Amino acid sequence: MTETERPPFPPVRSVVHNTVEDIIERRVQKYMKELRMCICGVCYADVLAITLNRSKPHYVSSEMGENFAIADMLTSDEQTISLDADIISACMLVRDKPRKNCAEVIAEEISKQEGVL
Ligand SMILES: [Zn+2]
Repeated sequence: MTETERPPFPPVRSVVHNTVEDIIERRVQKYMKELRMCICGVCYADVLAITLNRSKPHYVSSEMGENFAIADMLTSDEQTISLDADIISACMLVRDKPRKNCAEVIAEEISKQEGVL
């Protein structure tokens, strides 16, 4: 295919978005702190990846669609409970078997160091 034969489509990543990912990201951070597990980037990425692989994606093709989809998801208790169960399960898995390059960062210790508590 030559340059002139390419269709005029923008890169797919810029026009479609998995709205479930946004919801999971926020909830993962909350649960990792509540469960007092390591919140380093390695553990966070592992919990996020495990949860996303277990969840059903919800793709939208525009920002407006994204907002509607998030609102719809948050009104569904059944979906929220299912996501929370997946997140907690992923947290337990990562907490019990952290990877060797885990930085062992606990939210509670950060708060104490910063004088928040
Ligand atoms: Zn870690």
